[in-house]
Amino acid sequence: MSDKALSLLEIMGLKDLSEILDNFYQISSCIAYLMDGDGFVVARPCLSGQHLDVKQSFQRSVNIAGCEPFFVCVVSQKTAVNQNQVPPKIQALLDSLTSRLQFEVAAKLPSKGVEFSFEQDLLPLKQILQVSSMAVGWSNIETGEIEYINPSFEQMFGYCHSDIPTLVQWFEKAFPDEVYRQTVLLPYYENSLEAQKRGDLTKKTSLVVACKDGSLRHVELTVTYMGCRRLVSYIDVTDYFNIQERLQVSARLLEMVAKGSKLKDIMLALVEQVQSELPGSICSVLMVDGSQRLRSYVAPNLPNSYLKAIDGVAVGPSIGSCGTAVYRKERVVVENIYDSELWQNFTHLADLAGVKSCWSDPIIASSGEVLGTFAIYYPYPSVPTEQHLELIDFASNLASVAIENRRGQQALEKRANFDHLTGLSNRGHFFESAEQTLETLIVDKTPYCMIMLDIDHFKQINDRFGHRAGDKVLIQVAGIMLDTVEDVNLVGRIGGEEFAIMLIDVDQQKAFEIAEQIRIAVEAQKVPITDEQAVSVTISAGIAQCHEHSESAISIDRLFGRADEALYQAKSLGRNRVKVFSKNNVTE
Ligand code: GH3
Ligand code: MG
Ligand code: MG
Repeated sequence: MSDKALSLLEIMGLKDLSEILDNFYQISSCIAYLMDGDGFVVARPCLSGQHLDVKQSFQRSVNIAGCEPFFVCVVSQKTAVNQNQVPPKIQALLDSLTSRLQFEVAAKLPSKGVEFSFEQDLLPLKQILQVSSMAVGWSNIETGEIEYINPSFEQMFGYCHSDIPTLVQWFEKAFPDEVYRQTVLLPYYENSLEAQKRGDLTKKTSLVVACKDGSLRHVELTVTYMGCRRLVSYIDVTDYFNIQERLQVSARLLEMVAKGSKLKDIMLALVEQVQSELPGSICSVLMVDGSQRLRSYVAPNLPNSYLKAIDGVAVGPSIGSCGTAVYRKERVVVENIYDSELWQNFTHLADLAGVKSCWSDPIIASSGEVLGTFAIYYPYPSVPTEQHLELIDFASNLASVAIENRRGQQALEKRANFDHLTGLSNRGHFFESAEQTLETLIVDKTPYCMIMLDIDHFKQINDRFGHRAGDKVLIQVAGIMLDTVEDVNLVGRIGGEEFAIMLIDVDQQKAFEIAEQIRIAVEAQKVPITDEQAVSVTISAGIAQCHEHSESAISIDRLFGRADEALYQAKSLGRNRVKVFSKNNVTE
């Protein structure tokens, strides 16, 4: 090696150094810069935030034969408790950046005319790499043997040297997809040698490595050639990649929310996303209904028998993970279902689903109300890592946004479609629902009927007892109609004290019976006006029937007109009665 020592900038160039610092910032969210021996800043990252609140910076001197000593400085945004003590996280960051620079500088030295002997000069580097947090290895390009991998390499990917003694074996294990090897990996390796010959020393690429345990890691890899050695360094960017992916997923799901996609579709997308990020996991979304019962909602990988069994279970202090999470309004982590008191009465359900652990997060609305749960199950006992917790937080927050949004929409729809006083369909919604229902009928000859109802002498109630009393009467009469006919879409308040009911697959005889039932109930039930006073009211009704819903059938408007005609007859014949329309006459 020559005695001449070059400055860091002469060896690496500002662009390369800034890129290393940018990359470091992306991965660690930590700003670092480089100083020369005289304390002047020689390189800083381009990407880091402008509004940096620098509390303290920590530095380490770097000595590489052939390069003038320089300093690596890492900025801390928190003030260390003891000014002389480097926090462990900063220590690890300094380690990581120092070893990366040592590696890259050593790799560039030969091209700068600094003589370099792999055996002699990389030996000290090897000592550094033994403790470096950067994964590094080198192979002999003549024999194809992998000669060295450092402990960080083993830790990052799980393979030890004896698992991958040759490059071919490493490629087959780490990149099991033949197409990926042929189209991505090998062209990169070939190009990297060419690039180096052109003087373009280190060439970076992003790859996905299959670890020994089957998990996948996103890495950034740099290849450098020194004589017959190919040095490869890997930086794990899996977390960074996941954060980026999470941002994209979150944007996609929020877009679904904004566009008014079905809540079930949004939840399904969310569940599938979490399952894909956590291989082997099974996720579920349960809702909580008005009577504090769990409702199965979305869980594509849990068996139906399980979902049926938990549907309708009341929440409580020891109702599995989900029922308890709702009850406590906090996350419940059950590492082993078969050891947990919370699951004591539910292990038969765990048998059904083949699960052994379950962590459940309550989905909480901005009002504090628990809307449901987001749960992660595993088929073996397990505890959540930080990554799991972060993911489960993300999922339950997103679910809460989606559910609240849906509820807001429903409230608006309700306001637009239903009468605020009685809760019945308003005129517009009633006719729309009636038309839609007819369109969905399959058998052409299905009979259907329209009943029109009107409160008798209602004006007198207002006049004698006041408008509020009149309102109470309207509410009570509407309630009686809803008790008789369940589908609220087909029971409408179409005017002040006028109502209409559409009955599908019901003939006029049956419709008459229903109208009579309502009439008798209204007559029988007194409406309390004050604590002491109650009034009785009666109604009149008119019915019209249609036998067909084909194009030749009469329109809803016409049917309504006929029912109205029958109602008019009922009124003129003395009120408190039901009349049926017939073409020739209105019959009783
Ligand atoms: P008939 O037996 O012929 O139907 O007589 P009626 O008095 O019931 O009919 P009329 O059409 O003369 O009166 C209807 C009254 O309903 C007039 C109006 O003030 C009252 N009304 C309409 N909407 C409301 C409401 O929302 N609340 C109350 N309290 N009264 C209402
Ligand atoms: Mg009336
Ligand atoms: Mg009227």
